[in-house]
Amino acid sequence: MIKEIAENFYMITLPMPFRLKHVNVIILVHDKGVALFDTGLNMSGSFSKLEDSLETIGKSVHDIDSIFITHHHVDHCGMAGKIKEISGAVIYMSETGRQIIENHKNEGLAIQKIKKFYIEQGLTEKTVDGLVGLLRHFKKAIFPFQVDECLDFNKKYTIDDKTFEILPTPGHTRDHICFFFREEGILLSGDHILPEITPNLGPDLFCPEFRPLRSFLDSLTSIQDLPVSRIFPAHGAPFSDLKKRIEEMRGHHKKRGDLVFASVKERPKTTFEVSQDIFGKDLSGFDKFLALNETYVHLIELIQEGLIEEHKSGKQVLYNIN
Ligand SMILES: [Zn+2]
Repeated sequence: MIKEIAENFYMITLPMPFRLKHVNVIILVHDKGVALFDTGLNMSGSFSKLEDSLETIGKSVHDIDSIFITHHHVDHCGMAGKIKEISGAVIYMSETGRQIIENHKNEGLAIQKIKKFYIEQGLTEKTVDGLVGLLRHFKKAIFPFQVDECLDFNKKYTIDDKTFEILPTPGHTRDHICFFFREEGILLSGDHILPEITPNLGPDLFCPEFRPLRSFLDSLTSIQDLPVSRIFPAHGAPFSDLKKRIEEMRGHHKKRGDLVFASVKERPKTTFEVSQDIFGKDLSGFDKFLALNETYVHLIELIQEGLIEEHKSGKQVLYNIN
């Protein structure tokens, strides 16, 4: 499905095998070709859908000359390498995104970090093994690629008559960026601002000092006063009221933080136990992982606020009130 969403901007909605069901790819048609913002996953059905969508506006994959990626998640960069092979498109990403690709090349080390962290936070070895299998499977939905050019946060980029800025918006991931077309008032928000859900937050195991929730809230503040009239998110329909959405997301995390604190007050718990209090006990392996991540980012902020502390107990980390 392709929809014109602004002059020369189109949104293509591609399938996704997760609960979200779909991911939006934004394209900007210009004089010489097509610029793509995010790509969708590299899985059967995605590429042909992209091809068919482009065809309906008289374009083809061969016309794609540049690919701008918001962050290194499978649904956002999965097809970049494949498209580049066909069209020779230049792949742009943040410097942090490039580093993350490098980190993940060492699969053995990545798995070691995953196992250590999630067992410490209270998952069983069996659950963690299942999780590792799942993450390996997802990795197949990224066609391997190299970043050609790292985006400069201080530079304005021009495509034809349109100029845009790169906004660093770490939080959902450490490398997340948004694209802002100031003159048109258009924000390509990736996963930073979504209309119906808040983006999942989780640790970057290669960068333990990264504070996802603190960064996410700061990244909301950093964009809240921009003259934005239209937001094109990676999941969900375009919408307009940036400030209102930001307020809602802040409120959501405030409430969630209170719930996490109330759970820890009862007795010392692992992150997993706290996540069960908040998200329930009936979750699938992958949802357990997402719930644990969401809980963890709150726990580390409560530690920063001096409200709780952590201590080791055998292989696990327990959290208790101060
Ligand atoms: Zn994402």
